Amino acid sequence: MFCPNCGAAEQAQESFCRICGLFLPDLTKLEPREAPISQNIQVNSFFSFATALISLILATLLYATVIGAGTPFVITVVAAFLVVIFVWQSLAFVRTLKLKRQVEELVPKRENSSEELSVPRITNRLLTSPDPSNVVQFETKRDLVRERSAD
Ligand SMILES: [Zn+2]
Repeated sequence: MFCPNCGAAEQAQESFCRICGLFLPDLTKLEPREAPISQNIQVNSFFSFATALISLILATLLYATVIGAGTPFVITVVAAFLVVIFVWQSLAFVRTLKLKRQVEELVPKRENSSEELSVPRITNRLLTSPDPSNVVQFETKRDLVRERSAD
């Protein structure tokens, strides 16, 4: 590959440029690190569902077994809080499902276009072996300039 800083040819990837010392990473190894959005949604929906379910079970248990006449105020508050969490997380779960449906409609198109736009990786693959037979010598260029200016 060529050094993007000084233009020196035939550089090894994952090393430093022999001329200017710039680090030259192997661009083919740079994969997107962020988790895909569909995976995030899946994790979110799972946690919303699990939290809602656990809150519902605990609230039901509290109301069925503990709460009655003479129950400490704190336990009543906790039970009410669990009901609120159940409602909130259920709504979050429904919202996440809606979002998942929207993403499924949108993402396939985006993934295709990003594949086409990942030019650096393709260019890198095409440019790794420079062809020395194709190089125009500096003297040749200078002679051409001289001829043109003489006309
Ligand atoms: Zn360099």
